Amino acid sequence: MILAVSKLKNPPSPADGYRGRFAPSPTGPLHAGSLVAALGSWLDARKNGGQWLLRIEDLDTPRCILGADLQIQSQLLACGLFWDEEPSYQSRRQDLYKVALGRLNGLQKLYPCSCSRQIIANALANLGIQTPRNQEMVYPGTCRPEHLELYSQDEIAQTSHTWRVALPENCHIDFEDLVLGHQSQNLNQQLGDFVLRRNDGLFTYQLAVVVDDADQGITHIVRGEDLLSNTARQIYLQKLLGYATPLYKHLPLVLNEHGEKLSKQTLATQINTQDEKCSLAELRKAAKHLGLTGLPDGESTTIAEWLLAATHAWRL
Ligand code: GLU
Repeated sequence: MILAVSKLKNPPSPADGYRGRFAPSPTGPLHAGSLVAALGSWLDARKNGGQWLLRIEDLDTPRCILGADLQIQSQLLACGLFWDEEPSYQSRRQDLYKVALGRLNGLQKLYPCSCSRQIIANALANLGIQTPRNQEMVYPGTCRPEHLELYSQDEIAQTSHTWRVALPENCHIDFEDLVLGHQSQNLNQQLGDFVLRRNDGLFTYQLAVVVDDADQGITHIVRGEDLLSNTARQIYLQKLLGYATPLYKHLPLVLNEHGEKLSKQTLATQINTQDEKCSLAELRKAAKHLGLTGLPDGESTTIAEWLLAATHAWRL
């Protein structure tokens, strides 16, 4: 199966009403890396006369930090990055994910899996496949039944195992990233049947993000390049669920001095938004990273003036 999204007849366009979003996980306050994603997606939306929504991706509850959502909101406000509509919270939208999972079950595309990471690693080792530490293991299909079946509501609500989506053979996804150009991924070779619901009952980011982007009518996804490798599988789920595929722009990542992505794990420090001067300094750093030049650099420039100039200058 080959899906070439770039060849779709009607990809969303700004003329249809641009809707973008910033979708932080509340695992901590914004750092220089997440500000780049926030600013880039905000500028892209504003340049196109579009809306910019804020979605708090708080599904992976064990990783969420209490209060981080509000901290992120106050940091965005301090930087003048105002959003449209009420912020949405994934933790309050579980019913939608349940319906989507039910639809995939109706298409007979799901199966339960009881493999632990160790079992998967052993199965791969038996096949002579070593997975480098920082890479996802390709699921070898250990639990995949020969014939996919329809499960009852009760069965898919069971949380004693994970639920995986069954990929067709040769599931090759092609798409155009508006920054990085043509992208191509063979999901069978690079990923295998992937998890939509975990055995602790949590819906995965992959399912939730696809459902939310469709439900909120998102036309443009502008986010960090660390998420690029997730895009093909998200496009695959969009196709299965009959959703439109948004346009994608993946932005350059901010790395620390060890070449690592900024994150809580790599002890990234939060941006300083204690006053307008500090917030503007953070915005200027983020803009520099995004390649924006010629912006007002005077001491007396306000954030509003600076953002207006940055919107005009936005080309990415
Ligand atoms: N919640 C994800 C993160 O903070 C971003 C998801 C997305 O933009 O698709 O990395």
